Amino acid sequence: MTIYPPLEIPQTLAAGPGPGNTDPRVLERFCKTGVADHMQKDVLRGMVEAKEMLRAAFGTKNTYTFGVGGTGWSGLDCAFSPILPGDKVVAFVNGTFSGIDGLNVRMKAATREELAANPLDPKPASVTIIDVPHGQSVTGEVVEKALAEHKPMWAVMAHWETGSGRINDLQGFNDACVKHGAVGIIDAVSSLGVSDFDIDDYPGVKIWASCPQKGVLSLPLTYAPVSFTDEAIDMVAKRGCYTYVHHPILEARHWGISVDGKDGSPAGYHRTHSAYAVAAFHEALRILLTHGRAQKAADYAFHEKALRQAVEAMGCEVTSNMTSLVVCNLPGKLAGKEKELVVGCREENFCIWPTLSEPVQVRIGILNQLNEKAITDIVSRFADAMLKMGADFNKDKILKDLKAYFAG
Ligand SMILES: *Cc1c(COP(=O)(O)O)cnc(C)c1O
Repeated sequence: MTIYPPLEIPQTLAAGPGPGNTDPRVLERFCKTGVADHMQKDVLRGMVEAKEMLRAAFGTKNTYTFGVGGTGWSGLDCAFSPILPGDKVVAFVNGTFSGIDGLNVRMKAATREELAANPLDPKPASVTIIDVPHGQSVTGEVVEKALAEHKPMWAVMAHWETGSGRINDLQGFNDACVKHGAVGIIDAVSSLGVSDFDIDDYPGVKIWASCPQKGVLSLPLTYAPVSFTDEAIDMVAKRGCYTYVHHPILEARHWGISVDGKDGSPAGYHRTHSAYAVAAFHEALRILLTHGRAQKAADYAFHEKALRQAVEAMGCEVTSNMTSLVVCNLPGKLAGKEKELVVGCREENFCIWPTLSEPVQVRIGILNQLNEKAITDIVSRFADAMLKMGADFNKDKILKDLKAYFAG
């Protein structure tokens, strides 16, 4: 038997698509929280307060707004749980993450026979996947055409596709859902806490899911925010769903929402929530709301532009339009060396990412890096890595221009 020494993990610069560097205040709440069980009154009060702050973060009056313990996929599993075998679904895929959403949906909509035919990658007849090429956004026209043709019960799309850094047309998706009577489900993992939007402005979307590690910045594994309209919950109440732990109605009990939908009901045990996680999540929401959604969104746009201009000046071609992330092709001379570049950076604890599906591109993120010093550090480290691989540009000039940008 081996008992290993304590696990030491270094402080790195997490400059990828996510996770973002967790705020020290969130970590402090996590480790300064006392031992308390999952029915202790302050833990439950914290969950109720977090639920209320989450409604403000989402911009919603939906009663069924709460956190699902775990990562983004945990929230999405809860969000997709109302999809039952044989249900007709159209899902839009334009990159890695919406691709996995599509897989999740196919697993849920597959009949037993369809699942058994290909358990890890089922292809149910009732699900249509609309593929949009990497690097392009899902447009309202694409959604309109597909929903008009297939008339599905459910429509699924990622708001911001983090794999390629593309913003998809939420308004167009919403309008097509309303027009064709489809129940919209949105993966808002990358947009909540970065972009400024009220989900209640999109009545065609009945179910939303996000994650703890990106815009909400509460990685010490906490909660994936979800929100369901009453219509979505009514469907679950009538039809049921095949999960205990991610059951939207049952899970909401611990957040003070009774099975008949009364907010402010006494909390009912669903699972053993962690006082540490509740306190950390609560603090992350306080930080988000104090910063202000609109201000935060403007800060992301401003800092993304700074990074974008700098990498363009290094000869890269930026193909993304998200404001938390720059996805780019290297200049011709370095094309094909993307993975090598990323590996070199990561070895120096400068943790950027390649794309996870073809084509290979470089992804540099700025989650929780909203200040001049942090952006300058990212630009400087990326410039060093590029120069080391033989790129040809004047780093001093790039840093000077960056400084001028921040000086206004
Ligand atoms: C990151 C991401 C996910 C997965 O989130 P995890 O926290 O890794 O589970 C899903 N969808 C999108 C759009 C993402 O960006």
